[in-house]
Amino acid sequence: MIRVEDLHRHFGGFRAVDGASLTIRKGSITGLIGPNGAGKTTLFNVIAGMLPPTSGEVYMDGHNITGLPPHELFQRGLLRTFQLAHEFASMTVRENLMMVPAGQTGETLWNAWFRRGQIAREEAELRQRADDVLDFLTIRHLAHERAGNLSGGQKKLLELGRTMMVDAKIVFLDEVGAGVNRTLLGTIGDAIVRLNKERGYTFCVIEHDMDFIGRLCDPVIVMAEGKVLAEGSAAEIMKNEDVIEAYLGT
Ligand code: ADP
Repeated sequence: MIRVEDLHRHFGGFRAVDGASLTIRKGSITGLIGPNGAGKTTLFNVIAGMLPPTSGEVYMDGHNITGLPPHELFQRGLLRTFQLAHEFASMTVRENLMMVPAGQTGETLWNAWFRRGQIAREEAELRQRADDVLDFLTIRHLAHERAGNLSGGQKKLLELGRTMMVDAKIVFLDEVGAGVNRTLLGTIGDAIVRLNKERGYTFCVIEHDMDFIGRLCDPVIVMAEGKVLAEGSAAEIMKNEDVIEAYLGT
């Protein structure tokens, strides 16, 4: 689904991504691991259109998507989750979900005046869709909570929920487990697996928790010093001597 070819992203003379090549198979939950500073986040940023590459190519379903802006990638179903922006923190969880889909009729003043019936219908549909997402993620009870009051793990679930409000095909998830308690991490993991199995989402996940990676991800891609060091099942990766050395060396 995604093919990255000889990708470079340099910052001045520093090679954060230094000739990385990898593929993300359609229907997979691919893990991306590696020591701090390996270039994982920079690679994500280039794939998701946040940063132009210094050189190299990114393909999605055979189409060259290198350097496309995030909104065009979004239309193609490529999404990267982000921590909640400040301006959304004071809105409720349900409102945050309802904000996501673009192209609602109510957006222009003209439409707002002449097509009030349609707008009300669309809003009711959107609310229903948001509630379905909340049910799927088992957080319906948080519908009226201000997003800024959520715990770290609940915010991650909301980020996942936002991808469900549009037709995502591939989702890039950054540091799913950072600051998230075990129970909630289990819930997030379950949601990822169900989205993958029931809705056909492909995932690429950066995560440090090896239990989580081992439970969810196949294959696992290991980066070090801006390059892909190894790829395989979690069990294979953990036995790989180059990988062990890369982690011990930091
Ligand atoms: P990882 O996510 O694997 O920890 P990053 O992609 O965040 O790695 O960073 C890789 C390296 O690139 C780090 O040494 C980091 O300091 C450097 N880096 C990342 N972004 C920038 C930037 N905007 N300017 C300069 N250096 C950067």
